[in-house]
Amino acid sequence: MNDLPALEVTGIHKTFGQTEVLKGIDLTAHKGDVISIIGSSGSGKSTFLRCINLLEIPTQGEISVHGEVLLFKHNRSGARVPADKKQVQRVRSKLAMVFQSFNLWSHLSVLDNITQAPIHVLNVPRKEAEEKAEALLHKVGLYDRRHYYPAHMSGGQQQRAAIARALAVEPEVMLFDEPTSALDPELVGDVLKVMRALAEEGRTMAVVTHEMSFARDVSSHVMFLHQGVVEEQGNPTKVFDHPDSERMKQFLAPKY
Ligand code: ADP
Ligand code: MG
Repeated sequence: MNDLPALEVTGIHKTFGQTEVLKGIDLTAHKGDVISIIGSSGSGKSTFLRCINLLEIPTQGEISVHGEVLLFKHNRSGARVPADKKQVQRVRSKLAMVFQSFNLWSHLSVLDNITQAPIHVLNVPRKEAEEKAEALLHKVGLYDRRHYYPAHMSGGQQQRAAIARALAVEPEVMLFDEPTSALDPELVGDVLKVMRALAEEGRTMAVVTHEMSFARDVSSHVMFLHQGVVEEQGNPTKVFDHPDSERMKQFLAPKY
């Protein structure tokens, strides 16, 4: 079992109305891989991540998480839908996502945000879930904020809380969608530091990012998306220092 990829995605297409936003994207992540997904705004990066954890249903393509193949069927109007709702829930907890806008529950303290899924989805006893949440809060440097509500914390603190919440379900793969894009510049570093630490401890991660130094230093593999196709990919040295694609070269060129 252990040599199975943590995540294997093949031939993902996604169409909204008449527009094909993703035109056949593949990704394989083995345990410990950090895959950075880069590209201009509108190239399909978020849609791709959302297809992986079924926040969007790919029009075509296969997804498997540590060998478990996600099942789809066609409903009466011909749309492709997940075939097994329980499987969707199970697989989502293996693919924890961190969003640009944090998406913490505003009516819950940080601690309660983190314990929700373990208690209500994974049936972990409350005391055990709280102890684990406290350990995660130490890890992201927020233990002293554990009883705060999100609105009383900075964006950087909220994002670190969201990362702790994602970790609490012990995901197979963590998906990050521009986790630092909504932050004031001085708060970006603390979040990237937490993400670097996760990479160093061998977490499997797929990260949509505009932080090129993070992509260069931390990734095992970089994918450059352009208009819904993978225009360039490879190890960071190849992609950043010796790109084949003219579009990749333009993307990297100083803008002013
Ligand atoms: P990125 O994250 O790279 O900026 P997105 O994946 O958000 O790009 O969007 C890719 C394209 O898909 C854009 O043209 C966007 O307008 C379109 N798109 C994304 N979500 C939807 C949706 N729910 N309905 C229609 N079009 C969408
Ligand atoms: Mg996006």
